[in-house]
Amino acid sequence: MQTNGTSLPHSLDKPGGPSAAKDGTMAQDNGKVPQTAHYEFGGPVGALFIMISLPVFIYYLYFACDKNSCAVTLLPLLPGSWDEIFDLQVFMIFLGWVAFQAVLYMLPIGKKVKGLPLRTGRRLQYRMNGLLAFVISVALFAALVYYQYPVTILYDKFLPFLTSSVIFSAALSVFVYIKSLAAPNHALAAGGNSGNIIYDFFIGHELNPRLGNFDIKIFCELRPGLIGWVLIDLAFVVKSWTDFPDNPPWCLLAVTFSQVLYVADSLWFEECILSTMDIIHDGFGFMLSFGDLAWVPFTYTLQARYLVDHPEKTMPSYCLMAVVALGFLGYYIFRASNSQKNAFRQNPHGDGVKHLQSIPTATGKRLLVSGWWGLVRHPNYLGDLILALSWSLYCGFDSIIPYFYPIYFTVLLVHRCLRDAAMCKEKYGEAWDRYCQKVPYRIFPYIF
Ligand code: NDP
Repeated sequence: MQTNGTSLPHSLDKPGGPSAAKDGTMAQDNGKVPQTAHYEFGGPVGALFIMISLPVFIYYLYFACDKNSCAVTLLPLLPGSWDEIFDLQVFMIFLGWVAFQAVLYMLPIGKKVKGLPLRTGRRLQYRMNGLLAFVISVALFAALVYYQYPVTILYDKFLPFLTSSVIFSAALSVFVYIKSLAAPNHALAAGGNSGNIIYDFFIGHELNPRLGNFDIKIFCELRPGLIGWVLIDLAFVVKSWTDFPDNPPWCLLAVTFSQVLYVADSLWFEECILSTMDIIHDGFGFMLSFGDLAWVPFTYTLQARYLVDHPEKTMPSYCLMAVVALGFLGYYIFRASNSQKNAFRQNPHGDGVKHLQSIPTATGKRLLVSGWWGLVRHPNYLGDLILALSWSLYCGFDSIIPYFYPIYFTVLLVHRCLRDAAMCKEKYGEAWDRYCQKVPYRIFPYIF
């Protein structure tokens, strides 16, 4: 899952420019994608380890933290029967949800936007209607609640829903890998063209697998998992409020509101995703399929699940207000910094950014060295992490497990920041070094 970032750089708005390949490597003749030269994620061994351990870990989080206990334990209590893990009816509902989102995605409503130039110079077209899909989905959910449909099935059958997403995302990874074997070379991902099956399957061999106009990667990045995350949270609120009608679950409401805002923000700024690493560099393989469809909705809901399972966890209103304020601070930094870079990339002479200092690079693009991007090299990550921490603080300090998200997210963003730095160094060379000298800290001022 990728939540907004930069938008289309205006200087790249034409095909075949000097940096037509936006993946950190220079375009090759005829758009030929070279073999991946450097492994990431520990190469094939690391990829295999991640593909086995992450699904296991999602189940671990579920079993280690339920309404009876929530503690790091070596041997969590496992279910007695397979029926508790897999349920055919739930699987059909899951498929129905994905199909419903696919129909919304294909609606001929919303503006059409072109992605960054591919290695051949061609630009793919995308329909931007994610916010509409979000609004329709939430409205439909509200209608189901109003007509007393059992939306709390998302709570009661959380485990079979999780299994459905794991099965579906794994099957989709196999499908796109097989499909990629028939794809022309120029359609492959620079990051997932190593020739090693395990590694390419993990990173994604084809850059933008499509079925006609249906772009599988963009769809998975922003629709079933991301919107599903919000609906799971909302179902938890319904569950908690139904069980304890006289006790509004304030912490759960606050975390849900904050996460709804975060997801709505991603869909409001939907087209910004087109210039992110996920879209321009990584292919679509197990990493994104599993990450988008299983990991996001079933681990990012951990704090909300903890709060619905532990309704006794409350906090004094002044603490609640402080955590809400921290969340808004994080969101403000996240949004303001992303928007500043966005505005600068669209028009460096625009009113809101023309006063900012920047340094030139050989590609024609400039790097900001003042404003948010003069504070640290990834102010947007800093804001995102503060927001993530606020979600966990709503859960109090009785268990470390609800803090899994900010801990994992710190690791993810530190790794991502190092990956991005390597690509920027390749793109901008000596100008990037000067930027790093002027802005020495990556994410946390005076720390890292
Ligand atoms: P960034 O938005 O930080 O984008 C990095 C790119 O920005 C660089 O490659 C470079 O591209 C450009 N850039 C870097 N420094 C400067 C500068 N000083 N001036 C101008 N341009 C600069 O990274 P991401 O795409 O990784 O993240 C986008 C958002 O998504 C973040 O807020 C992040 O927190 C969030 N995110 C959330 C995730 C989640 O699971 N919730 C997962 C991943 C990300 P170029 O020069 O080519 O424009």
